[in-house]
Amino acid sequence: MAKHVAVIGGGITGLTAAFYLQKLAASSHLDLHVTVIETKDQFGGKVETVHRDGFTIERGPDSFLKRKKEALELVEALGLGDQVVSNHTGKSYILKSGELHPIPEGSVMGVPTQLKPMLDSGLLSEDGKARALNDLILPQLPEYEDMSVGDFFSARLGEEMVDHIISPLLSGIYAGNIYKLSLAATQPQFINVERDAGSLILGFNGKQPKKKTSQFATLTSGLGTLIERLVDSLDARLLRGVTVSRIKRENHKYELILNNNEKITADMVVSAVPNDISANLFSDAAYLKRENADPNTSVATVAMAFDKDDVTLEKEGTGFVVSRKEPIAITASTWTHLKWPHTVPEGKALVRCYVGKAGDDAIIEQSDEELIATSLQNLSGVVDFKKDPHFSVVTRWREAMPQYPVGHKLWLAEIQDKLPHDYPGVYLAGASYDGVGLPDCIRQGKGAAQKIIERIKTGT
Ligand SMILES: Cc1cc2nc3c(=O)[nH]c(=O)nc-3n(C[C@H](O)[C@H](O)[C@H](O)COP(=O)(O)OP(=O)(O)OC[C@H]3O[C@@H](n4cnc5c(N)ncnc54)[C@H](O)[C@@H]3O)c2cc1C
Repeated sequence: MAKHVAVIGGGITGLTAAFYLQKLAASSHLDLHVTVIETKDQFGGKVETVHRDGFTIERGPDSFLKRKKEALELVEALGLGDQVVSNHTGKSYILKSGELHPIPEGSVMGVPTQLKPMLDSGLLSEDGKARALNDLILPQLPEYEDMSVGDFFSARLGEEMVDHIISPLLSGIYAGNIYKLSLAATQPQFINVERDAGSLILGFNGKQPKKKTSQFATLTSGLGTLIERLVDSLDARLLRGVTVSRIKRENHKYELILNNNEKITADMVVSAVPNDISANLFSDAAYLKRENADPNTSVATVAMAFDKDDVTLEKEGTGFVVSRKEPIAITASTWTHLKWPHTVPEGKALVRCYVGKAGDDAIIEQSDEELIATSLQNLSGVVDFKKDPHFSVVTRWREAMPQYPVGHKLWLAEIQDKLPHDYPGVYLAGASYDGVGLPDCIRQGKGAAQKIIERIKTGT
């Protein structure tokens, strides 16, 4: 008999789950029906591309990491391989005390693989450099399960290093408080290096990352194309503008109650929505509610279009991130026309700013005009503009950036242990759980699909 899977949430995770459910069911000759339910009028979640006056503007993610293969694999499976474009490499900077400093060459998430660039850098005071060098002689950290990224790096390399180099490099991904962010869940590779070598600097010594190779990729027509192609490829029931309000467990099946009063019965469910929503839908699983986690951080992106001749960059490069101690609202700026030249028409420039961080995210409720003015003001001295932007695209992402607190991996293990008993056939996936980047979300969506197919095949 045909099985029915309901996928809640039509972001990249949910759509990927639906795509692989169909693909794997077809290759195993299984009769499977899929329904995707998305609360907004459009699919894609945080992935949204705007096309205007020849510009391709991303409201959310602008690219994906090539090293994690799941995104490229999906792109290929959708026949979009010829659209893949890699970023132009160039210098990127950290803004500290109003000045742009190059990210020290050869550093791995801020950790030096060679000493000279760190010792030459204007990002650290002489005391800060001496403190970082203490990493070479300090004893190994006592055994621990997890600790915050901030505590770990400040214990090894000192607070200055955390404030001015490591935190800014991570803030674009998590926009959270680095002193609450789980090391084990977000940067586990450093744990092993410290354990094996007794020092981060020694552990990375000479392991210089290859210079000038592009790490990121996107699609020539924008990441929205990935969403469109996924949706087009689905032979599923697709519901937009419909919210799953409640879920009841009935005789080994699930009844999803929608806000349009429709009821959908499913054998299995992929819940690909932010965790606070899953926690409400699956309320018997009390462990889904997180007591020790900060709320997701809200951020805004401000993309501003100019004539290239009207924009003067103080230094050549592709953009900058901002020191934790800098008293400004933006946390990063990408000079998109230089990093992704295909996204702008000839002779034009696109400057994108990120606004909002943990503890200071109410700012995103400013009006569009205020956010644009704040961005331009925060850029002054670093980027000079002769004229106002031709147009701007401002996007607010409320409570959008999941925070992985210390102990996050233990929490994931608890879910893995208990959920199959409490809600058999329900799979949670997406940015709240096992990685926030697009390749991580794609891996989780695919993983949920694989587990469901396995469950059907084995009749469990
Ligand atoms: C500004 C910004 C920039 C980013 N930049 C990058 C980047 O460059 N590279 C990168 O790899 N990652 C980046 N990320 C992270 C990445 O975009 C996200 O982690 C990822 O898109 C999340 O996908 P998801 O499907 O898990 O969740 P979402 O995209 O949040 O999708 C969940 C969907 O569920 C829907 N939903 C919620 N509740 C219900 C309900 N009750 N019923 C039905 N539907 C519901 C929502 O409307 C939403 O569409 C960025 C994120 C942001 C916000």
